Amino acid sequence: MVAARLAAFDMDGTLIDGRLVFALAERFDLALKVREIQASGKPGSHQTKDIAELFAGLTEKDMESAIRSIPLTKNCERVITSLRKKNYRIGIISDSYTIAAGFIADRLGLDFVAANELEIVDGKLTGRVEMPLGWEKIGCFCKISVCKRYHLEKYARGFGVPIEDTIAVGDTKSDICMIQRASTGVAFMPKDEQIANATDKVVKEPDLLRVLDFVS
Ligand SMILES: [Zn+2]
Repeated sequence: MVAARLAAFDMDGTLIDGRLVFALAERFDLALKVREIQASGKPGSHQTKDIAELFAGLTEKDMESAIRSIPLTKNCERVITSLRKKNYRIGIISDSYTIAAGFIADRLGLDFVAANELEIVDGKLTGRVEMPLGWEKIGCFCKISVCKRYHLEKYARGFGVPIEDTIAVGDTKSDICMIQRASTGVAFMPKDEQIANATDKVVKEPDLLRVLDFVS
């Protein structure tokens, strides 16, 4: 039996072919407001707070149907099965929400999830959000709601996997700190220049199977 290794995936645009926040915003006519917040130039964790406030009053059911409406990325399940056979512990590190990431993790049978937790009272979102952060503990530059590097290190440690045996996959600049820390950091269908320039392992085809080209 080979020693356990660890694979961390971003969710939006990486495991799923879409973005939850945009799917919600489209459904509830908040797209303009979401874009305004994203263009505000505020640190990522502030934007996460502001966007969560927009969703106050939506129900758990609204969230579930929005996440169900987004398909998995091409060959996502095959990639998970293949990594599983190589004894990878596999999880999601996302600056989206646990309610959505948990749903995808259950569907794929994954081992861990790190994401923002939306407060729900009587089945409705209150607009408040619990952010795991982590950058303040390790001095990471990202300053987003879920520092992906911090959580990569945390789960690797938890599963007894040396950082040399980790892979991380993501598609935007919020994934850079994780991708640079993992032994193998892959930019999948990069959405911005920063992530495309952050690694020499780039997949430009909308097929998650290509990520395995970088996995021994
Ligand atoms: Zn970070």
